[in-house]
Amino acid sequence: MKTENNIKYVRRQIAMFAEDGTNIIDATCGNGNDSLYLATAYPNAKIVGFDIQEQAIANSNKRCHGHDNVQFILDSHANVSKYVSDNVSMAIFNLGYLPHADQNLTTKADSTIAAIEQIMNLLNPGGAIILTMYRGATNIEETTQLLDYVKTINKDFFIVSMYDLINLSGNPFNVIIERK
Ligand code: SAM
Repeated sequence: MKTENNIKYVRRQIAMFAEDGTNIIDATCGNGNDSLYLATAYPNAKIVGFDIQEQAIANSNKRCHGHDNVQFILDSHANVSKYVSDNVSMAIFNLGYLPHADQNLTTKADSTIAAIEQIMNLLNPGGAIILTMYRGATNIEETTQLLDYVKTINKDFFIVSMYDLINLSGNPFNVIIERK
C-alpha cells in the first residue's frame, strides 16, 4: 500500500515531464515495471532501461515483451551517455535493491551521481529526472550523500524539489531535478 501511494505520485510527475517521441530513461529497470508503464503510456518514445543484474534485464525483457519501443542495457547507468546522446524528456531512478534479490547489488551514490550529471546534459528544456529514494538502513548512506549533492545543483539551470509522503512513516520520498 505504501509503495502504491508513491507509484501514484511518481506517475503524476511522469505525466508532467515525459513526452512522446523523445528518449525516456529508466535508470534502474529492475523487474521492468516502470519501463512497461512508460512503454505503454508513451508508444512513440524510446524507453532505454539500465540495470547491472542479468536477471533484472531478463525480467524486464520478459515484462515488456511485445513492446518494440523499449531497449534494455546490461550496464551501469553511470555509462548512460555511451548509449543515449540527446533528446531526453525524462529519466526515472528507483534507487535501492531489487526486492527478493541480493541486497548488496544496491545503487550507490557515486554511480548515481555520475548518471545524474550525464543526464542533466541530455535533458530537453522542461525535462526532468525523478529519483525515488529510501530511508532504510541499506540505503541511508546513499540517500544522505545524494541529498547533499542535489542541493549543490546549479539553480540557474535546474529547479530541484523534494516530495515526501509525510503521513506514511518509512515511505520512499522523491527528488525532482527539472531543467528550466
Ligand atoms: N524500477 C524497478 C522495477 O520497476 O522493477 C525496480 C528497481 S530496484 C528498486 C533498483 C535496481 O537498481 C536493481 O535492480 C539494481 O540491480 C539496479 N542497480 C543498482 N546499481 C545500478 C547501477 N549502477 N546502474 C543501473 N542499475 C543499477
